[in-house]
Amino acid sequence: MAVAFQDYYEILGVKREAADKEIKSAYRKLARKWHPDVHTTGKQKAVAEEKFKKINEAYEVLSDPEKRSKYDRLGSNWHNGQDFQPPPDWGNNGRFYSSADFPGGEGGFQGTGGFSDFFESLFGGGAFGHTTAGAGATGTRRRAHGPRRGQDVDAEIELPLEEAYHGVNKTIQLSADAVCPECGGAGTKERGFCPRCGGTGQVPDTKTLEVKIPAGIRDGGRIRLRGQGGEGTGGGARGDLYLKVRLLPHSVYTVKGSDLETEVRLLPDQAALGDKVRVPTLDGPVIMTVPPGSHTGIRLRLREKGLPANDGQRGDEYVRLVIDIPPTLSEEEKQLYQQLKELRKK
Ligand SMILES: [Zn+2]
Repeated sequence: MAVAFQDYYEILGVKREAADKEIKSAYRKLARKWHPDVHTTGKQKAVAEEKFKKINEAYEVLSDPEKRSKYDRLGSNWHNGQDFQPPPDWGNNGRFYSSADFPGGEGGFQGTGGFSDFFESLFGGGAFGHTTAGAGATGTRRRAHGPRRGQDVDAEIELPLEEAYHGVNKTIQLSADAVCPECGGAGTKERGFCPRCGGTGQVPDTKTLEVKIPAGIRDGGRIRLRGQGGEGTGGGARGDLYLKVRLLPHSVYTVKGSDLETEVRLLPDQAALGDKVRVPTLDGPVIMTVPPGSHTGIRLRLREKGLPANDGQRGDEYVRLVIDIPPTLSEEEKQLYQQLKELRKK
């Protein structure tokens, strides 16, 4: 299929041997002049959009050394609008561009119809790896490249153990980069860097989300929030947001896989004679039997008081005994210890 040849040099009004700087400045000048936002009345706007589209396409090719050299291989004998058919050995290269390559704005020139058939025949339609949310020129690619799903985004959420175990509804704030509203993601404004984003084309943005944390999620577990990821392009669905759970260190429990470990302090007499003691578990305190003659370091197991395990079972809670004397002793206690001491001397 023949397509109309586009003379990109002519469109930008530069010579074939123009330096990058000249091309850039010619482009800027024309883009300012023909930006559709500047032309508001119906007919003028349509003309401006068409011009603007061509200017952007020309710049897209001539500002990219790879594309420019490929384009230059066609030679200088072609004229604007001439019937053109790419040579049969003309392979498409798959360069991925960043959004910063594309000037313009979200509201500016969307839907003006994408690149020309000529461009497509030279550089192909499959060469776009455009995933940046709301990036500058995505709108212009809509018809040419079809819907593209937004990127999946990873984030972390820190949870206390109890919330992970019981499940909880959380309001979280996510910071993400959004397209700069000042320059529409171009990073440039007038002749310099955009003052709002400093030339990056993106500004920090915060969004608030309600998240339901399912009961029993473990450290490293992921929660998928459908449609909360990067914006799709060309009517494509939004990507998903994956929240990775990080358990906060706990004052009472140490998490070891699906098992929990905790420590219980006993008095020497409790350890010597055995006792029933109150031990915290995630389901509330339980009474645990300490056998007589227990010593420091012994671990007692509370079956299935740990965290849910992968196999549907539940981990255990291990209670490590620490034998200690109380920080202060009453007179009576002192006397009793004294008696015990005397007893040993016999
Ligand atoms: Zn900006």
